[in-house]
Amino acid sequence: MGRSSKDKRDVYYRLAKEEGWRARSAFKLLQINDDFNIFEGVKRVVDLCAAPGSWSQVLSKKLRGQENKEADVKIVAVDLQAMAPIPGKSTAEEIIGHFEGQHADLVICDGAPDVTGLHDIDEYIQAQLLLAALNITTHVLKHGGTFVAKIFRGKDVTLLYSQLKIFFPLVTVYKPRSSRNSSIEAFVVCQNYSPPPGYIPNMSNPLLDHHYDVDFNSLEGPNRVIVPFLACGDLSGFDSDKTYPLELVKGQEYSYHEPTQLPINPPYKEACYLRKNDLLAKPKVSAEDKDKSAPQQVN
Ligand code: SAM
Repeated sequence: MGRSSKDKRDVYYRLAKEEGWRARSAFKLLQINDDFNIFEGVKRVVDLCAAPGSWSQVLSKKLRGQENKEADVKIVAVDLQAMAPIPGKSTAEEIIGHFEGQHADLVICDGAPDVTGLHDIDEYIQAQLLLAALNITTHVLKHGGTFVAKIFRGKDVTLLYSQLKIFFPLVTVYKPRSSRNSSIEAFVVCQNYSPPPGYIPNMSNPLLDHHYDVDFNSLEGPNRVIVPFLACGDLSGFDSDKTYPLELVKGQEYSYHEPTQLPINPPYKEACYLRKNDLLAKPKVSAEDKDKSAPQQVN
């Protein structure tokens, strides 16, 4: 497979490298902002599940970069994995110190488990991650603030919508054009944070009580929360499921770009090293099996 073949098959992967984003996910956040204007007036942001950091790059550029010269913008980025710092910005702990007891205007979460391919398990873990993010959000988000998070639109998604609607009067499910149609991934854009009167944020999350004994899809009328779904059906951006020629703009020559930030310590690193150096274990073949597999002369 040539170096350029992934560039052809995945236009957002290619554009991310060309524009200097650490991951193609950057376009998802940019497209969410194009439609919901989530960055307007934002000064304090928490980026949950942030590595390798393309969403933090977008925040940094949109809120602090050339497009906006606000110096008092603070971005806190959190992840399980190590993340290379965004050049020129303070570490998360220093930024938290600068929050000065104030709450965030915006919390974003692109968290995803390592998918297993077993859909029920993947959807369940993703839902738990979303609820954990929602729980943290109830501690740090200001009233009226916005929460954006990745969601898997599985069969029990109605339960998640209901839980989000407890805290946000306005919940929209959004499928950015850069998110592949083949993926069940979408994003919830939850606006105007308004916890129920008397709600006290608590780390032992009552939303995670694991009582899934109601068939939420059977609920109807006011008992069922229907969340509006907004998909990008127009032709304004590249289609993430399409293969494009390398010459994207006529007359503009293609040149290959290395990824902006290589993973720091990916789990597949050792396997790549072993394969490159022909050190992968090989099945032992007995002399007898070798004879059998040797080409036989047919008279
Ligand atoms: N938004 C990121 C960007 O633009 O670069 C990409 C995020 S990536 C799709 C999902 C991230 O979720 C991974 O970096 C993973 O380490 C993180 N993650 C998964 N489970 C987590 C957890 N329980 N706590 C914190 N981070 C988690």
